Amino acid sequence: MTDVLILGAGYAGIRAAKVLGKMAPRDTTITLIDKSPIHEERTQLHEIAAGTMPANRITFHIAEVIPNQVHFLQAEVDKINVEAKTVDFKDHETLSYDYIIVALGFQSEDFGLEGAKENALPLEDVTTAEYIYQTLERNVANYAASQDHKDLTVIVAGAGFTGIELLGELVHTAAELQTKYRTPKLNIVSVERSTRLLPMLDESLADYSVNFLKSKGVEMHTGAAITKIEPDAVVYKLEGSDTEERIYGHTIIWTVGVSGSDVITKSGFEQRRNRVMVSNQLNLKDHPEVFIIGDVSAVMDPGTERPYPTTAQISTREGNVAAKNVAALISGGELEDFTYKSMGTVASLGKGDGVAQLSPTKKYSGFRAKVLKRVITDKSLFEDANFGTMMKKGRWPL
Ligand code: NAD
Repeated sequence: MTDVLILGAGYAGIRAAKVLGKMAPRDTTITLIDKSPIHEERTQLHEIAAGTMPANRITFHIAEVIPNQVHFLQAEVDKINVEAKTVDFKDHETLSYDYIIVALGFQSEDFGLEGAKENALPLEDVTTAEYIYQTLERNVANYAASQDHKDLTVIVAGAGFTGIELLGELVHTAAELQTKYRTPKLNIVSVERSTRLLPMLDESLADYSVNFLKSKGVEMHTGAAITKIEPDAVVYKLEGSDTEERIYGHTIIWTVGVSGSDVITKSGFEQRRNRVMVSNQLNLKDHPEVFIIGDVSAVMDPGTERPYPTTAQISTREGNVAAKNVAALISGGELEDFTYKSMGTVASLGKGDGVAQLSPTKKYSGFRAKVLKRVITDKSLFEDANFGTMMKKGRWPL
């Protein structure tokens, strides 16, 4: 009898559960654990935050999509005890394991910036995404009484992929809220430290994204390092300047970066931003029974000698390999190295536009890129859930 625990049912964990559930010997008990019974397709959170998509289009019940051999347990992990081979929970008795796959995902990272936690809205799950939209709508609705333009200003702090995709959606939201509440035009503002946006994409595609957003009325501030968030303002310094500038607004959304789950630090793993460096086989060298994947892990890319970025595509692939390697350890087979060849990077810019880079020369912008993004979203629903869920909740031909 072998006990396997999979912690977290995000992209990495759910894939690991699906693969291991089909490969493991019959006397293996596989338990997939998450604090929520619902899986969230978190690459689409920007749509929920902007109110352009209801949350039920990006969520499904975990228990409905896992193989029969996998049990689902709803419980919140508190701490992993690697030496004792046990896991403590906030709301469940301690469980022990023979093998564990840790896939606890990301959380918003404030980098200790003054006022960020108190005054900016993080975007990390459906709950925080829905709260962002509620705050934005409440502020816009309040304008009639306040006549304060800060109620009509939404500021997105950080313009990585999340920030850029969110800005693209907010363009639609702003127009809808303006009509609904008969207000003057809303201001959508982006504040980003870097001057070269989206470094994972060719510069021409990054420029396309910025110019597209500007053409839709988004105020883009680049080379602007945020130093503080006040209750009604983002404070920043322009590159090469010591002068503090302020942009005033009542809806301040935080997309400045992410780190892995805090459980990693609490469990005493050697880590950086809650990401643990693992072997090429995705486990710990001194504890081969511990696999760490997705946004809580760092896997070295031999090509660049830097860890791979944290993306859903990579997390899913890690889920596959970790599951196969656990099955190999149980049955005495050979372990597989994690290798990764990017299938490309695609980002949406609102309802009908986007950018896509499939190879150094294969670059697309505009509607074709948006179509690709929809295909990827649907493929993910198909693989993470099933065909029926994809048909019910997918994007095509929307
Ligand atoms: P990120 O770390 O990629 O981007 C954060 C942005 O905030 C960066 O551009 C950074 O320069 C900026 N920033 C940091 N500190 C700042 C400061 N003090 N002032 C102003 N700007 C500051 O984070 P993310 O966008 O949340 O993405 C997280 C991960 O998810 C990344 O690996 C990303 O590639 C991935 N992702 C991918 C997609 C996609 O492929 N379509 C979509 C969303 C997220």
